[in-house]
Amino acid sequence: MYLKTLHLRHFRNYQEQQVEFTAPKTILVGNNAQGKSNLLEAVELLATLRSHRTFRDRDLVQEAEELAQISASLKRETGISTLNLILRRNGRRTVNLNGENLRRQMDFLGVLNAVQFSSLDLDLVRGGPEGRRHWLDTLLIQLEPIYAHILQQYHQILRQRNAFLKRNAEKLYTTSLQSELAIWDVQLATAGTRVIRRRERAIQRLAPIAKKWHASISGSKEILQIKYSPNVPLEQNHSEKVQQALLEKLQQRTIAELHQGTTLVGPHRDEIELTINQTPARQYGSQGQQRTLVLALKLAELQLIEEVVGEPPLLLLDDVLAELDPSRQNQLLDTIQDRFQTIITTTHLGAFDSQWLNSSQILYVKSGK
Ligand code: ATP
Ligand code: MG
Repeated sequence: MYLKTLHLRHFRNYQEQQVEFTAPKTILVGNNAQGKSNLLEAVELLATLRSHRTFRDRDLVQEAEELAQISASLKRETGISTLNLILRRNGRRTVNLNGENLRRQMDFLGVLNAVQFSSLDLDLVRGGPEGRRHWLDTLLIQLEPIYAHILQQYHQILRQRNAFLKRNAEKLYTTSLQSELAIWDVQLATAGTRVIRRRERAIQRLAPIAKKWHASISGSKEILQIKYSPNVPLEQNHSEKVQQALLEKLQQRTIAELHQGTTLVGPHRDEIELTINQTPARQYGSQGQQRTLVLALKLAELQLIEEVVGEPPLLLLDDVLAELDPSRQNQLLDTIQDRFQTIITTTHLGAFDSQWLNSSQILYVKSGK
């Protein structure tokens, strides 16, 4: 797929800017705090309706404005699509595809696919499980847009169940409380199982691809394993058993949950384990080795999306080239070639060799222009 144009209005530090992409590779060059990452973030929002930098739409809307608009024209094998996203300070959004307002956000997802790789992704290895869940969920949203709906449903039930637990925290554990909670338990287990099953399938597909990339970048001595570990046994693809296990575990933890006023069991507590030669990657090796791992994950994401969607996604590289050594840079650049439309940010063009510079469109970014 090919992003032809992007139009930003009152988005972050962009007042109004039209961008035409005239080559498969675009380099955005500029000093710090000029708007390079903001532009990538706009593309990321069109692809996932999420930003990895903020959860609040009011951060995205330009200061003193009420709404921001991101529009794009995208060429796919099936034809040209126009995407239009309106973000409001109060969080309400309008999604519009080919001139038609969509009622469901999931119908907007999956039109533009993109893999984002920024220095923040290094936290996938070093940081806590929440970041890895967010990463996997963002990938899943693109692989199967209905997942956005499944995840939203789960979180809604989780919020309501947590509110219920808080309201009743001081009360005695009576039969009526027990039976009311049982209703929430069933709902949470049903919605939770859908999340777990999809995360499991995604990891099953992603893990061997990432392992292969990792072996190729690191020189094959190191074995990367990605293991999905929810807090119930997976029971070999058996949804009813997963659901039953979730229910049982919820019931075991009820007293503790009422005490803490929060749900302690479910996919919001999942872990995705990254190990190299059976050692947790976080404890393993140098920063360089951790970067290799993240690079392998990102290349695997690209490949998996391409396989599932049937077209190469966009690649958004935010300031990461400088973080990789020359051999890993080359590995990445060789993979991209002209296969994946790539938008790269940098503070200086010196990081690129002449072949790369000659074949790229170079855009200078200064104060949101
Ligand atoms: P770096 O090289 O440091 O990564 P960058 O060019 O990627 O820089 P961005 O993160 O794209 O920088 O842009 C940051 C700028 O955007 C900052 O000056 C910040 O104040 C401005 N900015 C962010 N959000 C808003 C907003 N809602 N309204 C106005 N300006 C904003
Ligand atoms: Mg930046």
